[in-house]
Amino acid sequence: MVFTDDTEMALVAAVRLVNSAEPPVTMTTTGELAAFFAEFNYTGRLVGDQAELDDVRSVLPRLRDLMTSSRDDAVVIVNQILSDAKAVPQLVRHGETDWHLHAVEDDRPLHVRMLVETAMAMIDVIRADEMSRLDICADATCEAVVLDLSRNRSRRFCSTTCGNRAAVAAYRARQAN
Ligand SMILES: [Zn+2]
Ligand SMILES: [Zn+2]
Repeated sequence: MVFTDDTEMALVAAVRLVNSAEPPVTMTTTGELAAFFAEFNYTGRLVGDQAELDDVRSVLPRLRDLMTSSRDDAVVIVNQILSDAKAVPQLVRHGETDWHLHAVEDDRPLHVRMLVETAMAMIDVIRADEMSRLDICADATCEAVVLDLSRNRSRRFCSTTCGNRAAVAAYRARQAN
């Protein structure tokens, strides 16, 4: 384990969110958002309407900046998000998740909770100087974010689709020689 469970979960969720804006675009319906909410065990309010989905989609570029910036730039974004949201870290425990930090109340809008939760997770990444765990997919045609939580830092592609495409391209390049 590179980070604590809750931090890794928040990072995985944030990467999924950010990558939903990359082709093929997903998370375009309230149903998809509800499924994502359930899959990642979010607590608190889910309104389930289009306005909430629009708000969530509107913060994806900011989340992407946060996760793909240099370490020092990410610090500025983290501090801004926490300040904008008037975050107050509190230890909480819910469901199967042991004591961890929430920094805004459960009744705040979902997109605000997503921003703050990602910022809190990025605090761990920044403090541990592990920004290299986040990168852009090694496939030349893909801009998706890759989160590498492997021990040997072997992950380069956002998906097996991208990994396979790159493998096929490399094979063809060898055959052409
Ligand atoms: Zn929680
Ligand atoms: Zn990719």
